Amino acid sequence: MARRLGRRRFLSTAMGATLLGSASTAKETSKPDSTEKREVRLEFLRPKEIKEAQAACPTLFQPLGTIEWHGVHNVVGVDAVKAHALCIRAAQRAGGVVSPLLYGGVGGLDEPHTFIMEPENSVFSNLLRPWLEQLCREMVRDGFRAIIILTGHYGAAQQIVVRETAVRMSRALGIPVLGTPEYMLAIDVNYTGDHAAWGETSLMMHLYPDTVDLSRLGKPPHQGVGGRDPRQSSAKDGKLITETIVSRLATLARKMPEWDNKKLDRFVDAEAILVAKQLSAPRGKRNIWTAWRNIGTAMREYGKNLAEEKFEENKAAVAKL
Ligand SMILES: [Zn+2]
Repeated sequence: MARRLGRRRFLSTAMGATLLGSASTAKETSKPDSTEKREVRLEFLRPKEIKEAQAACPTLFQPLGTIEWHGVHNVVGVDAVKAHALCIRAAQRAGGVVSPLLYGGVGGLDEPHTFIMEPENSVFSNLLRPWLEQLCREMVRDGFRAIIILTGHYGAAQQIVVRETAVRMSRALGIPVLGTPEYMLAIDVNYTGDHAAWGETSLMMHLYPDTVDLSRLGKPPHQGVGGRDPRQSSAKDGKLITETIVSRLATLARKMPEWDNKKLDRFVDAEAILVAKQLSAPRGKRNIWTAWRNIGTAMREYGKNLAEEKFEENKAAVAKL
């Protein structure tokens, strides 16, 4: 597609139409995981628990989100609380610790109840980028040996800033830092990222069921929604997307601290190629979403390849973007 691809257009065309399977019995409220599970939130840990967690798995998750309109049926913190819940589940499964949720990033829709800290399409981040850099440095200084930055908010510039910062910090700090939106880990179950549409709403129906009210939706077009009709959302679909993302995050959290320099270099090379393509594809003039046109097909196996350490396959896939 040679035409300019706007954010909403990307969100509405990138969505797959396949219905997902598997049953859900999840009943959860605003607390994302039950109290029997290990406390993994850094802000609720004492020194002894932090030391023990680091000894078992020195990976730190950093969830990112913002305050942004997500339709009349969703809460405005979707991006943030979704990323937080996914990180918590992964850490409880694999080990590791979850850093406090960071609100605020690049862009946001021109809709009510939306905090725009930096311009939507600007890759020249003066707030998020240095903040993430310093966080990574402090995480390493505190003994963590791998970092996973998971952004639930994903305008094109936000994605570029997060991944580019992760690549640079991997090289500068000598440890693996992955910076990715959560949808990239679940493209193969047809979640290619959307805005308050089927994918995000299904995730929320599984992760925080009492926050979603589909009955508030009228007929399309739905205000400030991009992607497949959210009236088709279900907790069942959200469960499959959650499982896919969490299993990959958990695998990465276990493996990443063990990577030797050779593996680290292979990982960083593939991530660098991806972000270079995303950054350069518009050639300074065209739409910033240019490198996302074929993401649903070209990068379909990205999450699986990453978890299986098949970095060269992801590198090859970038050529098809
Ligand atoms: Zn969102």
